[in-house]
Amino acid sequence: MVIQVSVKSFKDLIKEVHNKGICQECGGCVSFCNAIESGVIGFKKSSGPPEFINEDNCLECGICYIICPQTHVLDDELNKTYNFADFSSMPIGHIRNIYICQTNDEEFLKYGTDGGIVNSLLNFLLEKKIINGAIVAKTKAAFSREANIAKNKEDLINSSGVKLDLHHQVTEIQKFHTYTSSFEKLKQVRFDKLAIVGTPCQIYTIRCMQELGIIPSQNIDLCIGLFCYENFFFDKAKSEQFEKEFNIKFEEVEKINIKEDLIINVKKSNIKSETIHIPFDKLNNYMRSACNACNDFTNIYADISFGGLGSPDKFTTVMTRTKKGDEIFTKAIKAGVLNPVELDNKRLKEIKELLSKFSKQKIMRKEVFMNH
Ligand SMILES: Cc1cc2nc3c(=O)[nH]c(=O)nc-3n(C[C@H](O)[C@H](O)[C@H](O)COP(=O)(O)OP(=O)(O)OC[C@H]3O[C@@H](n4cnc5c(N)ncnc54)[C@H](O)[C@@H]3O)c2cc1C
Ligand code: SF4
Ligand code: SF4
Ligand code: SF4
Repeated sequence: MVIQVSVKSFKDLIKEVHNKGICQECGGCVSFCNAIESGVIGFKKSSGPPEFINEDNCLECGICYIICPQTHVLDDELNKTYNFADFSSMPIGHIRNIYICQTNDEEFLKYGTDGGIVNSLLNFLLEKKIINGAIVAKTKAAFSREANIAKNKEDLINSSGVKLDLHHQVTEIQKFHTYTSSFEKLKQVRFDKLAIVGTPCQIYTIRCMQELGIIPSQNIDLCIGLFCYENFFFDKAKSEQFEKEFNIKFEEVEKINIKEDLIINVKKSNIKSETIHIPFDKLNNYMRSACNACNDFTNIYADISFGGLGSPDKFTTVMTRTKKGDEIFTKAIKAGVLNPVELDNKRLKEIKELLSKFSKQKIMRKEVFMNH
């Protein structure tokens, strides 16, 4: 008797992910596929999902389907590996320790989105040769960011976008606006012991690859996860619409950050600044549509997660999740690179509740979107 097992492949990704408008454009499928058989799929346009380049060469192996962050085929396996039982009952994932932290390095603090902890930690790991490189995101041009391999402090500072000849306002906006596909960079890496910084959807894809033991995930030693409620899409037209809707001039913007909502600091005169808070539910027109279908806020599969929510201005909230993540973070604190604030049980409980609240909101948003 011949048993036919039907394997879902790239054709099914087109039907179930691309055609529903929920492709993250993370490049995970392309990166894996090119590593086994080049030229089958790829990004043909500057934005939009990947497409078949040569369908006849597709092996129908199905790996692209399994590792896609929108199919959730490996959720059960990952949940076991990363030590938490049930996504809905524990929306913030497995935590070893929670910190509120600030870097001791003035430059990283100045250029950091929050407490400058991510870059400071990466710098410590590079200096101590615990990692050989880190994949971060660098501002390429106005409204365009690309993945970049940082090998030292200068590379890390450059990746903050501050050294580029761009208006400060543009740098601020694009911290959160364009999605950066890091996988393409992975193919170019010729060394191991790599850290990668990514949003929850990116880290999920990497963990799927690692779970299956497939290339090019073998070089990644540490997954640094950023919290992410949503990611924005701003081109010229959207920027103009945004300015009009919220009565903000981007040329007056001093700083943009995301915590409970979108926080915009606007300079009104030499002596007067104004802080504007825009709730997430007012930002649907500017959000990448694929983000509606995402239910992970705190980056539950990362080794360590970082975000601004739960911390005061210029501090970062940190959750260590894996044994490796916890050991590395403790080492950096002991070395005096990072400065944690002392947290009592009441404060810890409040932080967890706040993170849970936003995580549940995101789970609900996905449910509503998928059922509408
Ligand atoms: C798109 C996006 C959405 C976010 N949403 C939230 C949110 O809703 N709530 C919240 O609390 N926090 C959110 N964060 C996280 C927060 O903005 C800070 O990045 C985090 O707190 C770390 O701050 P830091 O000062 O410690 O990091 P820094 O020291 O400033 O270092 C940040 C590092 O991350 C790298 N990086 C940034 N984006 C990417 C990327 N996409 N891919 C690869 N590398 C990247 C930078 O190049 C830099 O090396 C978001 C971040 C991003 C990028
Ligand atoms: S060869 Fe495999 S990974 Fe590549 S597109 Fe076909 S099914 Fe997907
Ligand atoms: S793996 Fe990433 S790029 Fe490929 S279909 Fe899924 S979301 Fe889109
Ligand atoms: S909201 Fe989800 S899909 Fe959108 S960028 Fe963040 S992690 Fe990725």
